[in-house]
Amino acid sequence: MNAKAAAPVIVLKAGREKSIRRRHPWVFSGAIEKVLGDPQGGDTVLVRSAEGQQLGLAAYSPQSQIRGRMWTYDASASVDAAFLRNRLKCALDMRERLPLGQHTNAMRLVHSESDGLPGLIVDRYADVLVAQFLSAGMERWREDILDALVELTKCEAVFERSDAEVRTLEGLPERAGFVRGNRDASRCAISEHGLVFRVDVAAGQKTGFFLDQRANRLRVRELSAGREVLDCFCYSGGFAISSLAGGAKQVTAIDSSETAIKVARENLKSNALDASRLVFKEADVFLHLRELRNRGAKFDLIVLDPPKFAPTAAQVENASRAYKDINLLALKLLSPGGLLATFSCSGGISADLFQKIIAGAALDAGADAKIIERFGPAADHPVALEFPEGDYLKGLLVYRA
Ligand code: SAH
Repeated sequence: MNAKAAAPVIVLKAGREKSIRRRHPWVFSGAIEKVLGDPQGGDTVLVRSAEGQQLGLAAYSPQSQIRGRMWTYDASASVDAAFLRNRLKCALDMRERLPLGQHTNAMRLVHSESDGLPGLIVDRYADVLVAQFLSAGMERWREDILDALVELTKCEAVFERSDAEVRTLEGLPERAGFVRGNRDASRCAISEHGLVFRVDVAAGQKTGFFLDQRANRLRVRELSAGREVLDCFCYSGGFAISSLAGGAKQVTAIDSSETAIKVARENLKSNALDASRLVFKEADVFLHLRELRNRGAKFDLIVLDPPKFAPTAAQVENASRAYKDINLLALKLLSPGGLLATFSCSGGISADLFQKIIAGAALDAGADAKIIERFGPAADHPVALEFPEGDYLKGLLVYRA
C-alpha cells in the first residue's frame, strides 16, 4: 500500500458532497458519515463521497465544527511546502497585478479561503508582515509558510498575531510575537494615499490596521471638503484623518478605546494637517450620539464603522437592533443634504439585511434618505465566488434630503 492510499479519509454522508462539488471549502462535522484512519489536527485527509468518489484533500480540524478545510479538489495532489509556496505565490501575484502598490505600502497579501489558504491571514505593513494562523491546517504548516513568505516578499520581520478567539474553536493556544526577524516594530509607519499611519502590530486590533476600508477612506476623503464630519468608531483615526486631508471644516472622532485614541492622536501628528480642526473623544458611541442629539448638534457627513456586532448568524437579532439604533441616531444628526457612510463588517448580516436595517432606521428617524453609493472591501481582500462567507464588509452611502 503506498502512502497516499494509507492517508486518513473523511467519508461524507449521502448527498453531502454537493457543496464540495461547488467548491465550497468547508466540510462540516454534520456532513461526515465516518473518519477512516486516525488523523490528528492539521493532518491532510482525503475527502470521499458516500459513493466512494474522491473529492479532494482537506486539512483536518478534530475540535472544530468545520472539521475539514479543502486544500484542493484534485485528490492526486500533494499538500507540502511546495504546494503552499505556490498558493502564496498566486496570492502575491494577484496583488502585484493591482495598481495598489502605487498608493500604499500596506496590503493584505493573503485573505484566507478566498486565496485558497483557509485560516491564513497575512498583512504587509511596509517591511513587516503580520500573520495569523487560524486553523489546525495552517498551524501544521506554519514554519514552511513563514519560510516561503520571507523568501517571496523579502520582508525579514514577521510578527505573528495568532491571538484571535477563533483559535480556541480549533483547540489551538493563542500566540503572539516576532517569529522571523526581531525589531522594534510596535509602531510601524505605513503610507496610504499620501497619509501616514503608525500601525501597532503588537497590540493593535486584528493585525493592527483595517486595510479593508482603504478605498472607502479615500472616498470619504473626496466627499469631505467644507463639511462638518463625525467619525464614529474611529480606531486609529483612518476616516477622521482622511476627511481632514480632504478639506473637512471640522472633524469629531469617537472611540471607546483609550489606546486607539492615543494612536489616532499620534497619527494626526504624523501628517502635515491642521490638527486644530480634528477633535478626538473617548466615549461610547451609543451614548455619545444621544448626547449629541440632545444638544441639537448637526453634521454634514457621518461615518459609522462599528466592530462586528454579529460575527455569526446566532447574533443577528441583537446586532440588527444595534445597527438600527446607531443609524437612526446618525440620520437624525445629519443636516439637510448631509451624507451617512455606514458600514457593517458582520458576517452574519447580509448586504440585503443591512439595507433593510438602514431603511427601518430612516423611516423611524423621519428622514427622506436614499442610497447613492455602495461600498465593499478593497481589492486586496478578494471574495472567492464559491465562498460567499468571505463577503463580510458592506457599506452604503446615504444622502439625506
Ligand atoms: N473605522 C476604523 C475601524 C473601526 S474598528 C478604521 O477605518 O480604521 C471598530 C472600533 O470601534 C474599535 O476601535 C473599537 O475600539 C471601537 N468600539 C467598539 N465598541 C465601541 C463603542 N460602543 N463605542 C465606541 N467605540 C467602540
